[in-house]
Amino acid sequence: MPDSLNPEIFAAEVPYYEPTGDECDLFVHAYNHNLPLLLKGPTGCGKTRFVAHMAAKLGCPLHTVSCHDDLTAADLTGRYLLKGGDTVWVDGPLTRAVREGAICYLDEVVEARKDVTVVLHPLTDDRRVLPLERTGEIIVAPPGFMLVVSYNPGYQNILKSLKPSTRQRFLAVEFDFPPPEREAEIVSRESGLPVERCRPLVRLAGALRDLKGQDLEEGVSTRLLVYCATLISSGMRMERAILAAMIEPLTDDPDIRKALLRVIDITL
Ligand code: ADP
Repeated sequence: MPDSLNPEIFAAEVPYYEPTGDECDLFVHAYNHNLPLLLKGPTGCGKTRFVAHMAAKLGCPLHTVSCHDDLTAADLTGRYLLKGGDTVWVDGPLTRAVREGAICYLDEVVEARKDVTVVLHPLTDDRRVLPLERTGEIIVAPPGFMLVVSYNPGYQNILKSLKPSTRQRFLAVEFDFPPPEREAEIVSRESGLPVERCRPLVRLAGALRDLKGQDLEEGVSTRLLVYCATLISSGMRMERAILAAMIEPLTDDPDIRKALLRVIDITL
């Protein structure tokens, strides 16, 4: 176990995460050396769970922000708010994480407004500072602070990809769906459905994922597989659960839907 893993915290509530490579080790090294980390990969393949797992293992508080296209730098750093007639400064989640020496996870960072990168740059080089323009404060990040961001290279359009000047400030690790047997174990553990009943679902997900790029923008995620297995585990018919969790969320196009249903017939 690496130095910074506290055995007491490790034994306590650590969210379940099944590694698919050496990503846990990489995270610990990055954390120990104050290096920011970029997680690349499709939606629902375990990135958020991984960060929650590592933060708990390291005994480090975690602030997670799901980025969206209206998210501005001020949403992350903070703003002046009126409170009982007074104007008071309220820290945003990034500022809180820097002050506390916590891990800050910005999920789908490329979705955020462009001004967000301006606040991330001084935090992701050896200065490790967060300048708060509005208050004039410059906060130096303590050693426990770590910035983790994720993005999905699959569905970004060219305007929304990360600029080299930003991405080259991060160590990066690629995520993908786990190998079938591992994914069946994850789905079983998360849903309570016996692993032998999860295997055909994983096989089906693999067949549907093969259509990605031709007919589908995104394949079935591990998250959707977990949903599907959860429905089956709670008594729903398999065909109905597959339709609700693995077909309908993928497409609105009637022809593609038909093609997906054919894949089910062939695979199961
Ligand atoms: P992402 O952040 O990549 O969109 P999540 O981390 O939210 O995806 O994963 C979605 C769900 O899939 C999780 O809630 C968990 O149930 C399951 N999952 C995916 N990969 C793993 C894994 N390696 N270990 C444990 N659970 C996983």
